[in-house]
Amino acid sequence: MTGDQHTQVVIVGGGQSGLAAGYHLRRLGLDFVILDAQAEPGGAWQHAWDSLHLFSPAAYSSLPGRPMPLQAGETYPDAGHVVAYLTEYERRYEFPVQRPVRVSGVHQDGRFLRVETDSGSWHARAVISATGTWWRPFLPAVPGRADFRGQQLHTVEYRNPRNFAGQRVVVVGGGNSGAQIAADLAYNTELTWVTQRPPSFLPDDIDGRALFNVATARRRALDEGRTDTGGVASLGDIVAVPPVRETRDAGLLKASPMFVRLERDGVVWADGTRAQADAVIWCTGFRPALSHLAPLQLRGRRGHIATVGTRAVDEPRLHLLGYGDWTGPASATLIGVGRPARDAAREIAALLAV
Ligand code: FAD
Repeated sequence: MTGDQHTQVVIVGGGQSGLAAGYHLRRLGLDFVILDAQAEPGGAWQHAWDSLHLFSPAAYSSLPGRPMPLQAGETYPDAGHVVAYLTEYERRYEFPVQRPVRVSGVHQDGRFLRVETDSGSWHARAVISATGTWWRPFLPAVPGRADFRGQQLHTVEYRNPRNFAGQRVVVVGGGNSGAQIAADLAYNTELTWVTQRPPSFLPDDIDGRALFNVATARRRALDEGRTDTGGVASLGDIVAVPPVRETRDAGLLKASPMFVRLERDGVVWADGTRAQADAVIWCTGFRPALSHLAPLQLRGRRGHIATVGTRAVDEPRLHLLGYGDWTGPASATLIGVGRPARDAAREIAALLAV
């Protein structure tokens, strides 16, 4: 579709965060459209590696209004189950999702925000940006990266261990992605797992449920003006999901410290020790995908957009949803995005009522 269209709210991104926002805007009777760059529903979950499972059971992984069904035979649902759930969710509520539509820029335009896309532009009274992080993989600036002749890939490009059978593989990263991908590769590659600091596993009986409870307790404390109870990071970095636990207990998940540089055929540590490698997999995280907001010039000196809750301080018609603790505790999780989505929708309804 081309041309200039109007709506009250444009939601940029049709993953779980965009859908949660749609749910609450609908409840408040606001008119909106969801513009999503993917051809199919499911956001980033469509691109997950084959063995990825949620770190919470289905009952702790639901968006507002519609519980995630159990997946037969799985305590922790897989990514395909999440995609099916999100697909059913947006169809059930008949959300006005347009895809594939990529938003190139959000601009101030008098009393409207103008949303430019690859299929026309929209004028809206408010915009919710819910574009996630998967689309902006982060790679650290390690010396020699360009010299390495083997294969280098980021978490977003990893699929399964088949392509690496028998190879010498270095997995970089001490978070959940690094631990899970290292566990995936541990049985049929010559694995070196490197982490910046010694890996910190959460206790085996703690999964996403407990993480959500900690984040909720923290939010309550902050809302009530009490002392910060600390975020989930205080518990550890890695959820010991079953494959990680099994591989660790089999003694196959031992981490080395971070190397200091790459060279033609491998990696080198500070003491001069070398390991040859056929592939390096960077499980080194993501950054919020915010290039479409550049025209608004909201980034401060440290590159951050200042927010109060989900609202941009310098552009109150813009809300940011689902990028992590930055826009609300646990807001990058399925169960955690509901509350900030509700708050954003309420603030927008109040703004439009003026
Ligand atoms: P996304 O799923 O990335 O959706 C954003 C959508 O916006 C995409 O469809 C994208 O194409 C679109 N988009 C981006 N830019 C534009 C643009 N310019 N114009 C139009 N559309 C655009 N959470 C849990 O609750 N439990 C878990 O177990 C869990 N495990 C995780 C494991 C990994 C490895 C990762 C990376 C995350 C995990 N998360 C988990 C966190 C979270 O649930 C996911 O990151 C989730 O995909 C975030 O949803 P989102 O809607 O914010 O972003």
